[in-house]
Amino acid sequence: MKRRIATITDVAERHLCTGCGACAYVQPDDITMVDDLDAGRRPLVREGTTSSRALAACPGAELEHPPTHPPGAIEELLGAWGPVLGVWEGHALDPEVRRSASSGGIASALALHCMEAEAMHGVLHIRQRADAALLNETTLSTTREELLAATGSRYAPASPCDGLQMVVDAPGECVMIGKPCDVAATRRVRDADPALDAKLGFTIAMFCAGTPSTRGTMELVRRLGLELGDVRSVRYRGNGWPGDFVVVAGDGEHEQVRSLSYAESWNFLQRYRQWRCSLCADHTGEFADVAVGDPWYRETTPDQLGSSLILARSPRGRDVLLRAAEAGAIQLRPLAPSRLVDAQPNLLATRGAVWGRVLVSRAGGVVPPRYRRIPTFGTWWSHLPPKAKVRSLTGTARRLVSKRLYRRRPVVAATVRSGEPLA
Ligand SMILES: Cc1cc2nc3c(=O)[nH]c(=O)nc-3n(C[C@H](O)[C@H](O)[C@H](O)COP(=O)(O)OP(=O)(O)OC[C@H]3O[C@@H](n4cnc5c(N)ncnc54)[C@H](O)[C@@H]3O)c2cc1C
Ligand code: SF4
Ligand code: SF4
Repeated sequence: MKRRIATITDVAERHLCTGCGACAYVQPDDITMVDDLDAGRRPLVREGTTSSRALAACPGAELEHPPTHPPGAIEELLGAWGPVLGVWEGHALDPEVRRSASSGGIASALALHCMEAEAMHGVLHIRQRADAALLNETTLSTTREELLAATGSRYAPASPCDGLQMVVDAPGECVMIGKPCDVAATRRVRDADPALDAKLGFTIAMFCAGTPSTRGTMELVRRLGLELGDVRSVRYRGNGWPGDFVVVAGDGEHEQVRSLSYAESWNFLQRYRQWRCSLCADHTGEFADVAVGDPWYRETTPDQLGSSLILARSPRGRDVLLRAAEAGAIQLRPLAPSRLVDAQPNLLATRGAVWGRVLVSRAGGVVPPRYRRIPTFGTWWSHLPPKAKVRSLTGTARRLVSKRLYRRRPVVAATVRSGEPLA
């Protein structure tokens, strides 16, 4: 039987949802985003409604680049990394931003620069949910304080696109920050939505190896010996580079603070990554104006200040970056394009495995995403060592069976009581 993706429910139940939230923005009366603790942020579609408009925006089922690349795209990076107009290492010059951020604080510093010097109104992004520390919520920050309160990568489900209406309703242009799939969804939506297009001033994507489920964070918190219902805050990193996974529970004299190193926490959490991330062909924000990640080509030391690897993805991205440096908001140091490969070998390998995984998924009756003008075979062939090529085929076959990916999995919405998400 040939399986097809015809609705948003198909995307969610057939393991293709990235959790971006764009469908809920496009059809707000019909689609609600919920927290599914074992999957991620997921859409629930009202019975009896069609979701064709939302499906047209969905990056989970399909992703494509326009027929032409922006002028100045670096030829040697195009195949495996998408359009890159310049590569830099840099950091926020505001020490508070740099310290509290994940890497060098470029995402927050650029967003702040857009508000303070480029006359933009606010920043659409995500933060820890006010009433449930194990979950995330979308917010439009309009002050430095609000922006700073949401710094730091959260290795847990978040759906910034469900807040795009806040951008449309804003009195001026806004910045949007998200993972590559969030920014790709935003690009798909804006192409068909002039009201949103007019208000989106700038987009920033963070490199992303995959989103672990909420269950991952819950299990990690339990391992630290804390009660889920007592948790008041979860920081995944930041406050140092890369910074620790820090959980605060209880209050007053009963306050407990437990932490793990970034490496220990990520090693644990990555086992909970959603399946769609294994088939992701854009880990580095190919649809953004600017993309940021970690310059992992050198070791970090405990007292080292944060630093970011920065890619200009569009002429606008390059212009804003250079203006932000001139205005003293960020410091930039140009890098040779090859430093991108040195900094992110894992993401190159992950993207390299996609062609093999898609092939085996299709052969096993599991619908993969459709990619157009996002080459995957070339990366598989040229950048994946022979053993990894074989693994991309055999490992996928094994996972199709062990994760029962050939079956539909209905969305399970969690309820929240006393700050604790319950299955
Ligand atoms: C799931 C995930 C996987 C990642 N994988 C990689 C990787 O493989 N390689 C790598 O180099 N870096 C990875 N990162 C880290 C991230 O790319 C860097 O930290 C990036 O450089 C941002 O640093 P910054 O200091 O500029 O950001 P900051 O100035 O600290 O700003 C971070 C911004 O990201 C937003 N944000 C935080 N969590 C999320 C989320 N889950 N979804 C959407 N928006 C969010 C915040 O609202 C904030 O605006 C990952 C991050 C996440 C969330
Ligand atoms: S990927 Fe995004 S748009 Fe598609 S179903 Fe999931 S939340 Fe909705
Ligand atoms: S790996 Fe890709 S699909 Fe998964 S969360 Fe990151 S950008 Fe989205």
